[in-house]
Amino acid sequence: MIDSLDSLREEMLARIEQSGSEAEIEQIRVEALGRKGRLTLLLRGLKDLPSDERPRVGEQLNALRQLLETRLQDRLQIVKAQQKEKALREEFIDVTLPGNRGESGHIHPLTLVIDEIIDIFRGMGFEIARGPDIEDDYHNFEALNIPKDHPARDMQDTFFVSDGRLLRTHTSPVQIRTMESRKPPLQVIVPGAVYRHDDDATHSPMFHQVEGFMVDGNIAFSDLKGVLTHFLQRMFSEKAGVRFRPSFFPFTEPSAEIDIQCVICSGDGQAIQQRYCRVCKGSGWLEILGAGMIDPGVFKFVGYDPERVSGFAFGMGVERIAMLKYGIDDIRLFFQNDLRFLRQFG
Ligand SMILES: [Zn+2]
Repeated sequence: MIDSLDSLREEMLARIEQSGSEAEIEQIRVEALGRKGRLTLLLRGLKDLPSDERPRVGEQLNALRQLLETRLQDRLQIVKAQQKEKALREEFIDVTLPGNRGESGHIHPLTLVIDEIIDIFRGMGFEIARGPDIEDDYHNFEALNIPKDHPARDMQDTFFVSDGRLLRTHTSPVQIRTMESRKPPLQVIVPGAVYRHDDDATHSPMFHQVEGFMVDGNIAFSDLKGVLTHFLQRMFSEKAGVRFRPSFFPFTEPSAEIDIQCVICSGDGQAIQQRYCRVCKGSGWLEILGAGMIDPGVFKFVGYDPERVSGFAFGMGVERIAMLKYGIDDIRLFFQNDLRFLRQFG
């Protein structure tokens, strides 16, 4: 009995010494001191011993139990301390190291230009309106003074969808929709996508326009000149010359096309080292805007009295402005989503 007690002590102490986890220590405790533990069973067997041996053996068993309990407790504290040490070491975060920066995207050059246009017109008190990309014939053509047989329809190769509906060929229908639902004074710009059956280096089947109009009791052509000159000089250069040429649009009368001095050759027509400027084709001028006084016929369609209100409207191509501003010679680059291209506009 005493011999087996000695070997039990040695075995248990050795195992406690080698244990490396809380679970392992708990397992040893159960095996030695649990309800069916080896030491527990020995203690229970005391009653079967001759009465003169019981006190001595009992004393030794109790001493062993206390020893094991103490050692288990000590070992548990050591193991816990080691685990904490390990966790501190492994989970250490050096807050002084540079972080992993997420790659941020870039604003598309067309969005940059639209935002800039909006910003300039907001500064002059214009608000923003939007309308549907899928339009009806009435809002896209009819109410803009373009009846069924009008030659201007040929200028705009239209994509038709079902039920006589179509993809709007310009942002002008939003002008009609706004005037139909509201009364003057109105000072509105309309950015948006438009669609025409056209596809080459300077034309895309989907492109963007910003339409604008101003309607009130006494709007004159001089208001149109003032607003658009201010816009162009803010958008391109304070020093750039601006030129108004007579033109024709079905929905304005009189109509004008508005040019700005070439941003590449500064209106010279000759680029650096006396070479012919390809951007303005040697003319020194770039066509940027179409505009005019809103035709009285258009006012009648929306229920305004042309005797009492007047106004001007204008439209511009966002891609064209972006191409001039950034020196881009192929419109398709805007829609290919080539990151090498887009990253240049951070
Ligand atoms: Zn030029």
